[in-house]
Amino acid sequence: MPVDPSTPPRLLVVEDDEQLSVNLVRALGNAGYLCERAASAADARSAPTRPDLVLLDLGLPDADGLDLLRELLERWPGCPVIVLTARAEEMDIVIGLDAGAVDYVPKPFRLAELLARIRAQLRSAERDLDPALDGHLSDGHLTVDLAGHRVWLDGAEIQLRAKEFDLLVTLLRRRGTVVTREELMSEVWDEHWFGSTKTLDVHIAALRRKLGEQAADESRITTLRGVGYRWEADG
Ligand code: CA
Repeated sequence: MPVDPSTPPRLLVVEDDEQLSVNLVRALGNAGYLCERAASAADARSAPTRPDLVLLDLGLPDADGLDLLRELLERWPGCPVIVLTARAEEMDIVIGLDAGAVDYVPKPFRLAELLARIRAQLRSAERDLDPALDGHLSDGHLTVDLAGHRVWLDGAEIQLRAKEFDLLVTLLRRRGTVVTREELMSEVWDEHWFGSTKTLDVHIAALRRKLGEQAADESRITTLRGVGYRWEADG
């Protein structure tokens, strides 16, 4: 995590497609990031310093990308990893997120979208260190008092049921990050949940309504069908 704001964030780009990797590193450099390139799992393993964020292509020639993901997180606990994947299948995405990736971007991707996801993760990593928040979460129009279980929208208190509150806090704490349905079920409901997750969608709908969001496409909570939900970070 960038301690000194004048130091550009360091990214590790793990991608075996040379053309893509070179273009990506150039674009990230133009966007103000310091990048290190790794063309294989072996390269990534030998990266000398902890990056502020990793972009990881799951399809690598010398290792299973998911195994490498777990290894990197063991070495650098808490380091945000965004998975780049041509395998857009739902299961791969879910497994990647379960293995500790914070977000995923399916290939082919638009650069602007990737840059927005990187910014969101770097901001969220910084915010985790922010002592000023002191028991409160805040996001634009919304303020949450964690201990008091109270929520204000544009200064007016709104009433949430216990599960809606837990859901809001779980999503807000990991804003910009995909939280899978399974994670939400186990964190908000019960850690041994094996039943229907329909109740999750019902609670999300109630939460959106109470947050004054009429249409799903204007919601701060993005639905990732079959995968989970993501609270969109500002910007
Ligand atoms: Ca690849």
